Parts: sequence; structure tokens; C-alpha cells
Amino acid sequence: MNIHEYQAKEIFRKYGIPIPPGEVATTPEQAEAIARKFGGTVVVKAQVHAGGRGKAGGVKLARTPEEAKSVAAQILNLNIKGLPVQRILVTPAADIASEAYVGVIVDRASKRAVLMASPAGGIDIEEVAAKTPEKILRHSVDPRYGLQAFEAMQIAFFLYSEIKQVRAAAKILQQLYRAFSENGGSLAEINPLVTTPAGDVVALDAKMVIDDNELERRPDIAALRDESAEAPSEVDARNANLTFIKLDGNVGCIVNGAGLAMATMDLVKYYGGEPANFLDIGGSSNPEKVVAALRIITGDTNVKAILFNIFGGITRTDDVANGIVTAIRQNPLKVPLVIRLTGTNEEIAVKILSENGLSAMTDMDEAVKKAVALATGGKAA
Ligand code: GDP
Ligand code: MN
Repeated sequence: MNIHEYQAKEIFRKYGIPIPPGEVATTPEQAEAIARKFGGTVVVKAQVHAGGRGKAGGVKLARTPEEAKSVAAQILNLNIKGLPVQRILVTPAADIASEAYVGVIVDRASKRAVLMASPAGGIDIEEVAAKTPEKILRHSVDPRYGLQAFEAMQIAFFLYSEIKQVRAAAKILQQLYRAFSENGGSLAEINPLVTTPAGDVVALDAKMVIDDNELERRPDIAALRDESAEAPSEVDARNANLTFIKLDGNVGCIVNGAGLAMATMDLVKYYGGEPANFLDIGGSSNPEKVVAALRIITGDTNVKAILFNIFGGITRTDDVANGIVTAIRQNPLKVPLVIRLTGTNEEIAVKILSENGLSAMTDMDEAVKKAVALATGGKAA
């Protein structure tokens, strides 16, 4: 789950990380009032679940409350990476002497949290990693002990040479690691971590991603979810208890079981197609889930063909067939549909489908080939 910068900042502040104050606004007038209250130059920042807001015009300095109002109006009109800006954060501007990057992520290879630090902050860390990897220090954290003070100091020396700043950064690194590990983070990041001309070390940006599996036992964190800032298809899928990830291709895939869903996507690619999504309707599917799945997939205008791939074990294929029929009655399809099903209650499923003018295949290869051919207009496969 993504959370907004202002929410991540609230969490980081609780751990003692130095962060300038800030308030959220939804209108230019509110932004003006907040700027007046803070006095001096402020930064107005789009609150969307996307990085690179600065480059997209979503982060702007304003010297007066009037300017804050006009800048806020501009930013509230923006669409950053497909996400409309509905909230802005207004915060007193800091003077910047240098910009660094610090972040913690879950590293699958080492199965640990890895702390990353770079004196080349402010810009895309991905770019730094690609062009000047020597400017990034990685430290894998032993979960039994957390980030120790001496380790934090070693990392901080990679960022700064001034001992006062090294000590301040080391403290921030330990605080960041705790914020990450105690709140179910899969990522916690400060970019930029700046030094001011006065020599202070301050976090000007904050990003946090929470592992969805942690939300069950952390209702306070789960409450931070902002559905209005999420892709509508992903909200719909989550509410229908479907595991759904949108991709860029044009073959919509509806599959039961994560393993079969992965295999289906592989096969789509093997036959020259591109999957439009990963979608697992789960083990014990019911017709409502199938209806929701079709609604979500057909909502994506990239989808040129839909492929059902159902292996009936606990999942009853007649349930799936009923779901397909119900969904199509509610909302006739505008793209071709290929159904492959086999297993539990297969004969009943085939009967239900044929009574409604639909047919099913049993061979997975054949079904995938057909769906890819339909989606590409016969150019692939
Ligand atoms: P991002 O582009 O989404 O990562 O948004 P950031 O919060 O990192 O802001 C982008 C850039 O705006 C930063 O790298 C800074 O250079 C600049 N910026 C952000 N806050 C301030 C501030 O308080 N003062 C100044 N002078 N620049 C800032
Ligand atoms: Mn940033």
C-alpha cells in the first residue's frame, strides 16, 4: 500500500527524524492561509502516489501567500502519471546546501532489509544506480539487532565528512530503519535528505510503502489508505478479494490460482502476446468474483481479447461458467472471449456455457494461442 508524503512524514516525525512542519490543503485558498500562517517562502507539493513530482511540476516554491495560492491552483490542476492531484502539502521552504538519498527496502536476494545511502540525492536514485553505482552504499541489516549505532555511523561517513552532520545522519538512519521495520514497511525513503547552510540535516521528502500483508494487524496504518488516489481498477479488485495487477499488454487474463496465472502469462508471452494483467480469482471462487473480474478487465480499454484459464479443483468450473454468463448478461462483451476450463464439474460448466451460446476449450496451449491471435489480429502466434 502506498501512502502520501505527508502521512509518511507524520510516521517519520514520531521516530524523531527532523522534518519541517507542514499542513495539507485541498483548495488554493487553504494553501494561501497556511502559507500566511507559516510566513516566508513555502513549498507547495502535490500529494500523489508517484515519484518524480518535482520534474512533473508538482513541487513549487512560493515567496508570498498570494503566490502560494496561484501555485496551488496550478498544482491542483495537474495529472501526474495519470493521477489527478487532489491534495497538496504546504511546508516552509528550507535552504539547501546539499542533497543526499537514504532509503530502506526489502531485498529478496539477501532476505533482509537493505539500507541504501547516496550523497547524490535529489534526483532519481534509479539513474544514480544505473550511471554511477559507486555513489550508492548498500548495507544489509541483521533483523536480530536492527541497525546498530556503529553501522549507522559508517554509512553516514559515506554521506558527510563534517562530524556534526555524520552524527545527525547516523541518528536519522537508525530512526528511519525503526520507522520502516515497526510499521510493516516494504520501502521507506528520504530523498532529498538535505544539509542547510547552517549545517543542519533535515528530511525534505518522505516516501513509504507498506506491505499489504501487514495491514491486517495494523489498523492504524491500514486507515491511512487513500482510495481516491489509487487506480480505480485496483480498488475494485481489492474490494472483490481478487489479486489483481495491471500490466501494459492487451490479453486480459482471468485465472484461478497464482501459479496457473503466472504460467498463463508466460504462455501468452511465449505465443507472442502481452498480458494486460495478472488476475487470480482464488481457490474457492464464486460467481460474484467472476463478475467482478470481468468488470475490471473490460474496464481496461487496452484489452483486445479475454482469456479464462480455469483448472477446477476446489474451484468449481460450473461456478465460473455461471459467473461468466451473469457478467455477460449484465454487460455484453465488446471483445472476443476465449474460455479454457477443465476439472471439477466440467460437464455442467460446458452445458451452461453452450446453452448461452459460449464454448469452452480444454487444452491450455490451444486456448492461449487463440486468445493471442484474437488480440493481435492474427499477427502473432
Ligand atoms: P519528488 O520530485 O516527488 O521526489 O519531490 P521532492 O519532495 O523530492 O522535491 C523535489 C525537489 O524539490 C527536491 O529535490 C528539492 O530540490 C526541491 N525542494 C523540495 N523541498 C524544498 C525546499 O524546502 N526548499 C528548496 N529550496 N527546494 C526544495
Ligand atoms: Mn523526492
